[in-house]
Amino acid sequence: MSKKVVVIGGGIIGLCSAYFLAKEGNEVVIVDKSDMLDGASYGNAGMIVPSHIIPLAQPGVIHKGIKWMFNPKSPFYIKPSANSELVKWLYNFYKNSNQTHVNNSINHLKNISFLSKELYQGFANENNSFQYDEKGLLMLFQNERIAEEEIKVAEISKKLGIHVDFLDKNGIKNLEKSTTINAIGAVHYKSDAHLSPNLFISFLKKELLKMNVQLLTNTEILNFKFANNTIKEIITNNGIIKADSFIVSAGSWSAKILKKLDIKLLLLPGKGYSFNVPKQAESPSIPSILCEGKVAVTPFNTNIRFGGTLEITNTDDTKINFKRLNGIVEHINSFYPNLKIENPKQENVWLGFRPCTPTGLPIIERSNKFNNLVIATGHAMMGLSLAPATGKLVSEIVSNKKTTIDILAFKTSN
Ligand SMILES: Cc1cc2nc3c(=O)[nH]c(=O)nc-3n(C[C@H](O)[C@H](O)[C@H](O)COP(=O)(O)OP(=O)(O)OC[C@H]3O[C@@H](n4cnc5c(N)ncnc54)[C@H](O)[C@@H]3O)c2cc1C
Repeated sequence: MSKKVVVIGGGIIGLCSAYFLAKEGNEVVIVDKSDMLDGASYGNAGMIVPSHIIPLAQPGVIHKGIKWMFNPKSPFYIKPSANSELVKWLYNFYKNSNQTHVNNSINHLKNISFLSKELYQGFANENNSFQYDEKGLLMLFQNERIAEEEIKVAEISKKLGIHVDFLDKNGIKNLEKSTTINAIGAVHYKSDAHLSPNLFISFLKKELLKMNVQLLTNTEILNFKFANNTIKEIITNNGIIKADSFIVSAGSWSAKILKKLDIKLLLLPGKGYSFNVPKQAESPSIPSILCEGKVAVTPFNTNIRFGGTLEITNTDDTKINFKRLNGIVEHINSFYPNLKIENPKQENVWLGFRPCTPTGLPIIERSNKFNNLVIATGHAMMGLSLAPATGKLVSEIVSNKKTTIDILAFKTSN
């Protein structure tokens, strides 16, 4: 039976949820406090990464994080705060950073990733107006220790059936013929893909409008009205909206919104930056990660997008840390000596907040507390990658259907 569904938050997760909900015949309204023209889902690196099967919470990550904290140019930072949420988040992250958690998560991440990629292929077959391409992902490295770590992860992926090639210097040269790359080797994840996030969102919005989905921009949710365990309506700055079901997909703001329902979600924003440079005579053609600096490199038709840093902070912290940005630029010039990238000007730097959970896994669940509330957030560095699968799963939860994949790993106790 078709329902009226309000989707709170129109980033990539909300848009994909709205798409699959509308496809199922539901009447869908998206409310977003912004103009829906910028934000985490727009300026990201556009990578679709079934290769990323190890959650962020993993053995060794704490040690590495502590080391990075003392380097102002490193790709990772935690903004110190007396906030009890940060303390709880860190404690939970610490508790989850073990091999058992990794072993329990790998298959779930693989299943949701491959479902998402299949759905992206479906969109691209319909109308590839968003530069979807399947060139894989190169994990490039310059030192032996990082090589060892990357190869270890790649061996696990290979055992799980993910297509992987191990490349030495010559292997890289044969693949990236027109660019000089200063790396001792690489892992080529051949199943990965990429697209232009801005163009994909434009495509989605057009599809949503065709299905009569309402996109209410500059509409901020202020509160909920509920009775017993059912949400009745939301109160926004533009009035009240009643509905049968409600989806909270507000990225890094989700915890703040859920607090109004007395639901405690451990979620913190991980700030990151990106900037574009026009393609040059010598430009990379395959999306890559420069492992030493965790810099993402995505070639689009006319531009190359560089992205990086994960600063655990709060959503009011919209300051660009130029030391860290300089760290990104140094890594680019070290890996691509002929690109000669300069530090971008402030006005050309985009920033976004990745919604990070202390498990490193997304949250996709029907709330235990409210029978008509679905939570879909916490995708951290894989929001674009996992969005279509998340949207499909959200619509299945709303329709009380058996979900396409097992979602137990993506449930919390909320
Ligand atoms: C530098 C960088 C590179 C990245 N690269 C990749 C990549 O290559 N591949 C990948 O998969 N992921 C990548 N990511 C991560 C990805 O961008 C995020 O996981 C994803 O955008 C999160 O989407 P979302 O819809 O959950 O949240 P958002 O896009 O943040 O959307 C949340 C929406 O909720 C709205 N909202 C908030 N509060 C309210 C309120 N009170 N009322 C109404 N609306 C509200 C906001 O305005 C916003 O539009 C990257 C991120 C960064 C920062």
